[in-house]
Amino acid sequence: MIAVATDRPALDIAVAGCGPCGLATALLLRRAGHRVTLFERFEAARPIGSGLMLQPTGMAVLARLGLLDAVLAAGARIDRLFGKEGDRVVLDVHYAALRGRAAFGVGIHRATLFSILHVAVLSEDVAVETDHLLTGSRLVGQRRALCFEGRPDSRPFDLVVDALGSRTPLAPPTGRELAYGALWASLDWPDAGPFDSHVLEQRYSRASMMVGVLPIGKLPQSDRAKAAFFWSLRADRLDHWRRGGIDAWKGQVAALWPSCAPMLSQIESPDQLTFARYAHRTLAAPAEPALIHIGDAWHSASPQLGQGANMALLDAWALCVGLAEGVSVADGIARAIALRRRHVRVYQWLTALFTPVYQSDSRLLPMIRNRLVGPLSRLWPATRIQAALVSGLVADPLTPLGLAAWPVPPPTPRG
Ligand SMILES: Cc1cc2nc3c(=O)[nH]c(=O)nc-3n(C[C@H](O)[C@H](O)[C@H](O)COP(=O)(O)OP(=O)(O)OC[C@H]3O[C@@H](n4cnc5c(N)ncnc54)[C@H](O)[C@@H]3O)c2cc1C
Repeated sequence: MIAVATDRPALDIAVAGCGPCGLATALLLRRAGHRVTLFERFEAARPIGSGLMLQPTGMAVLARLGLLDAVLAAGARIDRLFGKEGDRVVLDVHYAALRGRAAFGVGIHRATLFSILHVAVLSEDVAVETDHLLTGSRLVGQRRALCFEGRPDSRPFDLVVDALGSRTPLAPPTGRELAYGALWASLDWPDAGPFDSHVLEQRYSRASMMVGVLPIGKLPQSDRAKAAFFWSLRADRLDHWRRGGIDAWKGQVAALWPSCAPMLSQIESPDQLTFARYAHRTLAAPAEPALIHIGDAWHSASPQLGQGANMALLDAWALCVGLAEGVSVADGIARAIALRRRHVRVYQWLTALFTPVYQSDSRLLPMIRNRLVGPLSRLWPATRIQAALVSGLVADPLTPLGLAAWPVPPPTPRG
């Protein structure tokens, strides 16, 4: 574990946000010997949304936190990402193409990941201040205080870590909202089939329609396996979708992917689906005096490549490395950003490049995808490049951070 250098005093640090980034940061900084206070807007800290995919990058951090076994036990191992339009295979990524490595992803419910991190945070001496809606921050000498709605400002901290996500009030607005988002629901995994519990599967019609099923394992205190079920939708069509009625929509989904019947039978009301809007934004300057923005607060993108939570975990680790090595707070945060900047740039660019191929009104891009990219991507070395891409390993994010992709024994064989 990273420790504070003995000749340097422990820092008084505020971590804003109880998402995966904030929780992992609080845990790492506390274990490194700093005093940590976590702030969250909700009265009881809780996650929003359905499932997400952990990649080898994020799992490398969870392993160093001692939490990977719990994640592997609760989540669903994913070996393959597979997508079709009609009879054409347009996406087929096998983690095993990363030869020489026991590679896989993990689908996990947000509540499960949250619970694993939250329990670990509570077992350390981290103060958690819930029901604190942050509105901004202000410098007090060389330190920084937090401002809240309806409450007095906090005491000044040596460092404020902004892990408030993509709509953070601690950074200037930047980037753009994407036209497309998706409706998400957590449903029971249909044990009787027809889905493979180790595959993220999607069906497309051009790039404007997409339905997907991601195995996400179990919820905390439950043995029932779940699936994240998602339907791509333009944000400006959300009202139209609601007005159209649930049965008309189910008919549309069933026409695109008839195997979804056991999923659709679990949906009776539009309220079971949550619309998630995506934004592409990257802060040019993720550090200010006594303040660093990390996770989605620094960079957010559509979940097309499934990297956001993993990048957030890498940012958390990098901050701890930077602070341990830096001669001052400013030097520590500058080092943390330098450790992450290249990987962040590469994946923000790649995600912006790939998103319209799978979610847009374009007719040309899906045609190229179906006729050219799809078939070519099943040939070596494209198979390996794709696996590295979805694993988050392009641009080698782990070596500079002293992390290894597979610090754990090989996973249990497929069941
Ligand atoms: C539908 C969807 C699917 C996704 N799928 C994947 C995937 O498969 N793999 C992947 O790696 N990533 C995925 N992502 C991205 C991933 O969810 C984010 O990158 C990740 O959650 C970022 O973590 P974070 O902790 O930085 O921010 P967040 O998870 O957004 O957490 C921010 C925290 O700050 C709190 N907060 C916000 N504002 C305030 C305020 N003003 N005051 C106080 N508290 C506040 C929030 O309540 C929250 O607890 C997906 C995202 C979406 C929307």
